[in-house]
Amino acid sequence: MADAGYESEENYGFIEKNGQIAFIKPANYEISKKRKYKNDISRVENMDYEKDTDTYICKNGKRLEVTGTINRKSRTGYQMVKTQYQCEDCKDSNYKAQCIKGRNCKTPLEERTKRLEISKEFMKYRKEDLVRIVSDEGIELRINRSIQAEGSFAQIKQDMGFRRYLTRGTQNVLAESIFLALGNNMNKLHRKIQNGRLGKYLHSVKKSA
Ligand code: SF4
Repeated sequence: MADAGYESEENYGFIEKNGQIAFIKPANYEISKKRKYKNDISRVENMDYEKDTDTYICKNGKRLEVTGTINRKSRTGYQMVKTQYQCEDCKDSNYKAQCIKGRNCKTPLEERTKRLEISKEFMKYRKEDLVRIVSDEGIELRINRSIQAEGSFAQIKQDMGFRRYLTRGTQNVLAESIFLALGNNMNKLHRKIQNGRLGKYLHSVKKSA
């Protein structure tokens, strides 16, 4: 389970290689529900895709075809293969201003052609992940992630009154963090015993009537 900030092809791949299943909220998950996003014709997510020919069809009914691939390296050195697409004919399109982004480009808009760069691997991972995220299991895990991960910070900072480290240096700060985690875990265990929740790892989803 991870929040949207952790979504990347590298992370999806790492999780898969380690025999685990990712439940990561896609980075565009919240924004993708907004009308502005859904109406944004420049986005590949809003174009039709033809699998047989590997082409996207734009708002103007034109085809964006593959022109090549390019290797891109992430900051951590991870290699991504991106497929490049180019529209067959943007010349007389009335949608250019909405479709082609990049206001600082030196080439005038009239002379520009719509291009896309897409990692098929990433798209595949995101699509599969999205199905899991919106499933009952995904919703339960997401709720628990936010309670367990974010809640711990709140408990340590607000309930335990921890505002700043007393020590300096990596080793000392690490040791202090371990003590904090120990204290928090003890509190958590105590609460679980009191509430009869021992052995229960997940809070169940409350369904509205
Ligand atoms: S600018 Fe090109 S890709 Fe965009 S809608 Fe017009 S024809 Fe299609």
